[in-house]
Amino acid sequence: MEQVVIVRYSEIHLKGKNRSYFERLLTVNLERSLKGLRHELHRTSGRYLVEKFDENRAEEIVRRVSRVFGVHSCSKGLLVENDLDSIFFAAKTVAPKEGSFKVETHRADKKYPMTSMEINAAIGGRLLSANKNLRVDVHEPEGYVYIDVRENGTALVFGSFFEGAGGMPVSSSGKGLLMISGGIDSPVAGYMMAKRGLTVELLHFHSYPYTNEGAKEKVVKLSKILSESTLTSKLHTVSVTHIQEEIHKKCAAELNVTLLRRFMFRIAERLARKFNAKCLITGESLGQVASQTVEGITSSNSVVTLPVLRPLIGFDKDEIILRARKLGTYETSVIPYEDCCTVFLPEHPAIRPTLSFIEEEESKLNVEELVEEAVSTLEIIEL
Ligand code: ATP
Ligand code: MG
Repeated sequence: MEQVVIVRYSEIHLKGKNRSYFERLLTVNLERSLKGLRHELHRTSGRYLVEKFDENRAEEIVRRVSRVFGVHSCSKGLLVENDLDSIFFAAKTVAPKEGSFKVETHRADKKYPMTSMEINAAIGGRLLSANKNLRVDVHEPEGYVYIDVRENGTALVFGSFFEGAGGMPVSSSGKGLLMISGGIDSPVAGYMMAKRGLTVELLHFHSYPYTNEGAKEKVVKLSKILSESTLTSKLHTVSVTHIQEEIHKKCAAELNVTLLRRFMFRIAERLARKFNAKCLITGESLGQVASQTVEGITSSNSVVTLPVLRPLIGFDKDEIILRARKLGTYETSVIPYEDCCTVFLPEHPAIRPTLSFIEEEESKLNVEELVEEAVSTLEIIEL
C-alpha cells in the first residue's frame, strides 16, 4: 500500500489530436510545481500519480499541484493491488472513524471480475462489520470511500477531491507580457491569462528615486505569489523616470498620465518582441480611472501593433478584489506605496483627450530616444 497523490486533468481532452502535446506541457508544469520535493510523477490514462514522496509532504504536494493550470482535481490516496483484500485494507484507512459513509467505485478495468455495484457492496459490508460506529447512507453520507480500479492490476482508494485550478496548461497558448503594477488588478489579469494557457512574462515600470525600494519589494512579492500559479521565474523592471520628467517639463499637465501610458505600451511592445511574447496584458477595467476610458484605450493601443489583452475590462472592482483575495495577492496589493503613475499625477487628468491633441503634445518629445533609454535600464529579478 503506497501513499499517492492523484491528479486529474481538465479540458485537455477537448483538444483531440493535440492531446499529447497538452499532456507533455502539463507534465513539464507539474514537474516545475514539484521542484524541490522528492517525488516521482507518472502518467496513466487520464491522470497522473505523484508517488514516492515523503509522507508528511502530501499536503504540500496537493497544494502545489492543485494550482497548476489544466488540473481539474486531485486527491490524496492509496495505491494497492486490485484484489478485494488489498482494497479493503486501504478503504479502512480512508473511511471515516464513525458516522455515515458511502462507497463509490469506478472501474477503468472493464474485465475486472466484479461490477462497480458488487465492489461497493463488498467493501461497504466489510467496513460495516469491522467498525460498529459506521453506517451506510447513500444519499447524504458524511464521508466517502472512492475506489478507482485501474487497468494495470492496481486500484486507487481515496476519500475526497480537492478542486484544481482548471484552465489550460501554461504555455499551450504561447507567451504574453504582463504589465504588472503594485496594484490589485494587474496580478489578477496575469492569473486569468495564464489560466488560458499563456506563459506570462512580467514587466514593471518604476520611477526610482521618486518611487522607493518598498514599492519594488511589493511588486517582487506580488510576482512571487502570482508565479506559484503562472510558474514565471523572472520579473523585469524598467525605469521611466526620465520620461516622466520630460513629459512634466514639456507637455500639457493634463496629459501626463496619457502620455506616460503610451510610453509604457511602446516599451512593453519592444520588450515583448525581445522575449518572443505575442501579446501584452494589462489590468485595465473600463471606466475605472481617467486613463481607462475608450479614448484612453484607443490612445494606448494606437502606439502598438501587438494585441493588448485586458481580461478585466468588464469587471467591477468588487469582482476583481474577490479574485485577488482568492489568488492571495490582495493583502500585498493594498499596502500603500508610490506608483510611478502617481508621482507626477496632474490634478485633473484628461478623461477624453483627442488623439490629435495627444500627438501634438507628444511631438515635443524625442520618443524613440526616450524609449531606447528606458529599455537600456532593464533589470531582471529572479523570483
Ligand atoms: P492596478 O491595480 O493593476 O495597479 P490600476 O487600477 O491602478 O491597476 P492603472 O494604474 O491605470 O490602474 O494601470 C492600468 C494598468 O496599467 C495596470 O493594470 C497595469 O497593467 C499597467 N500598469 C500601471 N502601472 C504600471 C507600472 N508601474 N508597471 C507596469 N504596469 C503598470
Ligand atoms: Mg496601478
